[in-house]
Amino acid sequence: MIHTQPNTKVNLLGLPLEKMEAFFLELGEKRFRASQVLKWIHHYGVSDFDAMTNLGKPLRERLKLIAEIRAPEVVFESHSEDGTRKWVIKLDGGSCVETVLIPEGNRATLCVSSQIGCALDCSFCSTGKQGFNRNLSAAEIIGQVWIASKTLSKGHGLNDRSVSNVVLMGMGEPLLNFDNVVDALNLMMQDLGYGISKRRVTLSTAGVVPGIDQLREVTDVALAISLHAPNNALRNELVPINKKYPIEELLAACHRYLQVLGDKRVITIEYILIDAVNDQPEHARELADLLHDLPCKINLIPFNPIPNSDYRRSPRNSVAAFQSILNKAGYVSTVRKTRGDDIDAACGQLAGDVMDRTRRSSRYISLSQH
Ligand code: SAH
Repeated sequence: MIHTQPNTKVNLLGLPLEKMEAFFLELGEKRFRASQVLKWIHHYGVSDFDAMTNLGKPLRERLKLIAEIRAPEVVFESHSEDGTRKWVIKLDGGSCVETVLIPEGNRATLCVSSQIGCALDCSFCSTGKQGFNRNLSAAEIIGQVWIASKTLSKGHGLNDRSVSNVVLMGMGEPLLNFDNVVDALNLMMQDLGYGISKRRVTLSTAGVVPGIDQLREVTDVALAISLHAPNNALRNELVPINKKYPIEELLAACHRYLQVLGDKRVITIEYILIDAVNDQPEHARELADLLHDLPCKINLIPFNPIPNSDYRRSPRNSVAAFQSILNKAGYVSTVRKTRGDDIDAACGQLAGDVMDRTRRSSRYISLSQH
């Protein structure tokens, strides 16, 4: 007889130290079992309890009955000419999300997804056009780091720090999946996880103000804000959540977050440059005024084309003029290099394969057919 019971095993992949300890204590086991198992999972990439040789056989058998270490399934992997790698990852339920690794010098930045699709519908982003399906679990978020580290280490153990930086800039709005994202962030930073410094873990948000305030209660990871416009009228069009949390409230939340970052750390302001939409000299001047009292650096992102959109990338000279206005006003700004666009891995091009639960993707498809 075939049993089709839902899988009720606890997936240990997503448990940070404190939750792993609680799990073992509840089983009546010693606390140190948590560190042993965490090391096997995240330092050695092991998913089979039988390989955990420092656990006694009875404990291993017991774990097999009630728990599992299950990363999402990689269905496709591609390599860009510039070294960028993209993994398409299939999740329970059948939708796919994408994870991108961007090597640069001796750094390797992993761009991680936090939701299947996104509910925010920013006008320039292809993820938003896919609609929204569900939040990723902590195991599915940290599973992306696990998969990348495991592929890179080629079975030699994961603690060679092959992923040096993580940015939550893949699919989804991380602050709308708060608890799972925080568990995954903790695992990225804990020594028994990936040991990545809090300065090298960046959460990027479209501006969920209560989420920013909640975040500073529990962590001090680096924060990036997808601002993209210097005034509310324009931002309402590009980033619709601005209608709920306008720029003044967003910047006030940034100031509050800065208090947990301490003196030398700043907030990253992300600003996509779209031709003739938000890339004019007056926008740059308005942005410089707007941010005058916020310790920040500005990351300018040339728009990457997405299907069925009239937006175009700003020409090179507009980008240069925009940056020069900011630099003259005293800002540190960088222009993000486009990486991985030959494999659709560049910012805003991550579409995955979302089984939409909203009606947005069908609306989008029917609009784009006209
Ligand atoms: N929801 C979060 C995390 C998603 S990453 C947020 O909004 O910050 C979002 C980032 O992807 C944006 O800041 C922008 O930097 C980038 N992005 C989205 N669409 C893009 C596009 N078409 N071209 C270039 N960058 C894009």
